[in-house]
Amino acid sequence: MHMTNVYEAYSVINGKQQDGGATTIYNPSNLSEHVGILHDVSSPVVEEATEAAKHAQQAWASLSGLKKGATLENLAVKLEENKEDIATLASSEMGKPIKEMKGEVARGVQLLRYYAAEGSRSDGDVIPAADPQVHQYSKRVPLGVVGVITPWNFPVAIPIWKIAPALICGNAVVWKPAKQAALTASKIMDVFQEVLPAGLINMLIGSGSQLGNTLLEKATIDALSFTGSTATGLHAAAICASRNIKYQTEMGGKNVAVVLDDADLDKTVSAILSGTFTSAGQKCTASSRIVAEKTIMPALKDKLKTAVAELRVGEALDEQNFLGPVSSKDQYEKVNGYISLAKKEANVVAETETIASDQEGYYIQPLIVEGVDANHTLAQEEVFGPFAVLLEAEDFDEAIDIANHTDYGLSASIFTNDLSRSHQFLERSEAGMVRVNLETAGVEFQAPFGGMKMSSSHTREQGQAALEFYSETKTCAIKHNG
Ligand code: NAP
Repeated sequence: MHMTNVYEAYSVINGKQQDGGATTIYNPSNLSEHVGILHDVSSPVVEEATEAAKHAQQAWASLSGLKKGATLENLAVKLEENKEDIATLASSEMGKPIKEMKGEVARGVQLLRYYAAEGSRSDGDVIPAADPQVHQYSKRVPLGVVGVITPWNFPVAIPIWKIAPALICGNAVVWKPAKQAALTASKIMDVFQEVLPAGLINMLIGSGSQLGNTLLEKATIDALSFTGSTATGLHAAAICASRNIKYQTEMGGKNVAVVLDDADLDKTVSAILSGTFTSAGQKCTASSRIVAEKTIMPALKDKLKTAVAELRVGEALDEQNFLGPVSSKDQYEKVNGYISLAKKEANVVAETETIASDQEGYYIQPLIVEGVDANHTLAQEEVFGPFAVLLEAEDFDEAIDIANHTDYGLSASIFTNDLSRSHQFLERSEAGMVRVNLETAGVEFQAPFGGMKMSSSHTREQGQAALEFYSETKTCAIKHNG
C-alpha cells in the first residue's frame, strides 16, 4: 500500500476536533494510494453543534459590518496562503484535475473578498412615510443558525459561496460536507480556525442519510442551504417546508449546448469539450446534450471525433491531463451503467482512445453518442460523467424545443454568430443560466447562479442574490413626537 501524507479529518464543534470512527480514503486516480482517514461522528452531536453556533452567532451578529468584513478578508488571505495544499488534497480525494482545483480555490478567495466588501455596503432603504414625523426604513437582519449541506464535486467553491454570504449577513453555520469531500472540508476548517471565533462554523463529518437527515429533521436551525442531487434536494425541501424553515436547494441538470449552422466550429468544439468533459463531466452545469442543426451535423461530428479521440485522461495531479478519473466507486459504477446502455442502444460519434495512466483508478473514456431520440434515458437523465448525447434538429425552432425538452433547467448555451437567433435563444430558453458562444459551465461568482424547473428551489446563489437568502428584511418606523 502506497501512503503519501495521510491526512486525518475531524469534525469541528465550538473550535474543538471531535473523535469518531475511522474510514480510510483512497485516491480515485490510484486506488492503491491511501490519502486520508475520516473520523466520522453520529447524529447526537448535531444538537451540540447547533448550540455552539447559536451561542457564537449572537456575538458575531453584534459586530459591525466592517469588522465582519475584515474577518472574511482574513479568511481570504489564509485560503490563498494554503491554495496549493488544499488543491492537492482535493485532487487526491475526489479526482478533479489539479489545474481546475487550483482555479477553484482561487474562486473561493474571490468569493470571500466579494462578501467581505459587502460588510461596508448599505443593507437597507429609507422609505417615505405618509406622516412626515415618521422615519421609516428597512434593514437586513440575520436568520440565525444556517445549516449548509454540500456535495463533493466543488469541494471548496460551493461551501464558500454559501458560508461567506451567510457570515457577512451575521449568521453562524453548521456545515455538513459530502463524505466524499470531507478531507478537503476538514483542511478548510484547519485554515479557517486560525481566524474564526469558536463555534461560528461547526463542521460535521458523517453520512447524509443519518447525520444530514438529523440536521434537517431535528436540529434547531433557522435556514438550510443545500446543493446536491434533485432527489435529496426535494427531500430536504419537504422537511424544511414542514418546519417553516427558509431553504434553498440547488440540484441536478441536463444542460444543453445548441450548435447552429453558422457557428464557428473550432471555437464551438473547444467550448463543448470544456463544458462536457472538464471535472470528468461531474459539474451540475456540464453539457450532456449537444443539439445541432442538420446542415452542420456532419462537420461537427468530424471535428468532435478528432478532438475527443485526442483528449488526455489520467491522474488528477498530472497537469498535462485534461480530465481525471470520476470521483468514487459509486460514481464509476453509475456512469458505466449509462456507458453500457449507450454502447447497446446508441452509436458512437467520438471516444477518447487511451487512458494516460498505468495506475488502477476510476477512469472512464470520454464518449459522445448519437442515434437516440430526445425522450431516451440518455437524453433525459443526469449522467454526471464524461458523456454526452448528440441530437439532430431540423431547424432553429426544433433545436429550441429539444433544448427545453427536459425536467431540468440549470444551464443552456448556443453557438452562433446570428444576433437575432442568439437573442431569441436567451428569451426562449427554460434555464436559469443562458449563454451565447460560452460553455454551459463557468458562471462567474458575482452573477446569480441557479436553475429553473427541477434544478432548484427557484432561489439564486452568488452575487447579490445570496444576500437576499441569508438575511430577512425588517421594516422599521419611528415617530418623532413633538
Ligand atoms: P447528494 O447525494 O444529493 O449529496 C449532497 C449532500 O447531501 C451530501 O452532503 C450528502 O451527504 C447529503 N445527503 C445525502 N442524503 C441526505 C439526507 N437524507 N439528508 C440530508 N443530507 C443528505 O449529491 P452529490 O452526489 O453529493 O452531488 C452530485 C449532485 O449535485 C448532482 O446531481 C449535481 O448536479 C448536483 N449539484 C448541483 C449544483 C447546483 O448548483 N445546481 C452544484 C453542484 C452539484 P453524503 O454524501 O455524505 O451522504
